[in-house]
Amino acid sequence: MKVLVINAGSSSLKYQLMDPATREVFAKGLCERIGIDGRLTHKVPAKDAKYEFEIPMPTHSEAIQAVLDALLDAGHGVIKSASEIDAVGHRVVHGGEKFASSVRITDEVMAALEECIPLAPLHNPANITGIKACEKVMPGVPMVGVFDTAFHQTMPAKSYIYALPYEFYEQDKVRRYGFHGTSHRYVSARAAAMLGKPIEELKIITCHLGNGSSVAAVDGGKSVDTSMGFTPLAGVPMGTRAGDLDAGILEYLMGKHGYDMKEMMTILNKKSGVLGISGVSSDFRDLENAAKEGNQRAELALEAFQYSVKKLVGAYAAAMGGVDAIVFTAGVGENDAATRMAVASGLEFMGVKMDAEANNVRGKETVISSADSKVKVLLIPTDEELMIAMDTAEIVGK
Ligand code: AMP
Repeated sequence: MKVLVINAGSSSLKYQLMDPATREVFAKGLCERIGIDGRLTHKVPAKDAKYEFEIPMPTHSEAIQAVLDALLDAGHGVIKSASEIDAVGHRVVHGGEKFASSVRITDEVMAALEECIPLAPLHNPANITGIKACEKVMPGVPMVGVFDTAFHQTMPAKSYIYALPYEFYEQDKVRRYGFHGTSHRYVSARAAAMLGKPIEELKIITCHLGNGSSVAAVDGGKSVDTSMGFTPLAGVPMGTRAGDLDAGILEYLMGKHGYDMKEMMTILNKKSGVLGISGVSSDFRDLENAAKEGNQRAELALEAFQYSVKKLVGAYAAAMGGVDAIVFTAGVGENDAATRMAVASGLEFMGVKMDAEANNVRGKETVISSADSKVKVLLIPTDEELMIAMDTAEIVGK
């Protein structure tokens, strides 16, 4: 089965055409500057080839059409007819409390997605536009929505409730939702496979550490807690996002500097995190280089990030009454041996023993704890596109 995976943002759209059964990726790429001018980068892994085109993309419809044209092109295409695309899987950021798993897209689902827009005003409209554009360009092809929030819908109320007046939950839907669910689900399933044990018997802490970061407690295959909250601004400090902070700071800074809410949110989303602390960069490679050269704020940013992740590992082990495996994934988790070591070291008291040599690795599935470590520490590259394609194939195949 050939599944086209679409991840639509406000001015960009990522795509991948793949067979979830064989995991073969036929083509993948990125449309950028949608609504501005339009640029397509198209890659064909089998040929190790990359193509770049300037194509006008006033809306997502032209972007999807450009993707289809690229897939069908006699030179750099990978299919002969659009009918070879059996289904389309869409990444959708927010499914609210309505979606606890992936679903076939119908008119009712579209209406429910529209209802979720206030919860994710930046992301969901782009996802909806992407779905509508596909419907227009590929009418009749079955489509599936895969939600970032769905995996965390198993959290118990004590994990997701905020200590605010209860009507804010009941009437305004203010609660912890959690994000990166597709990634946490994928790597926890791979962890169980690597350990050769049923996921139902495992307590796993998954650390998705990238430009955006979140940690999840996965007990018996179900998410029971996670660090992102009502929005992806919560939890550990990120590339440019502040993570958890005392809400009283907002009033203090807004009063002192005269910021309005929009300015304050820009500071919290775009100027904070490890960029804010270091003043150097949001990229961990830059921070490590700066720290090596003696930049103390870069060092402090790394330490604050690593400490914050370590504290969550301890908290989630306590929440689950133990832990069998800790997983590192995403850009930082997959590539940054020093951060993995800093998070996991000092946890020997709870049965974590790292293997420094095994940890000196990047981007491949491997065990990085020592053979006698009670808690297994694993590096597992995430693959959200594969998970979306697998869900799509399963739902469409039914
Ligand atoms: P992601 O959001 O998962 O794509 O992760 C992107 C982030 O991964 C970048 O901003 C970097 O901070 C980090 N990253 C990528 N490669 C490396 C590396 N070799 N060492 C440290 N950090 C890395």
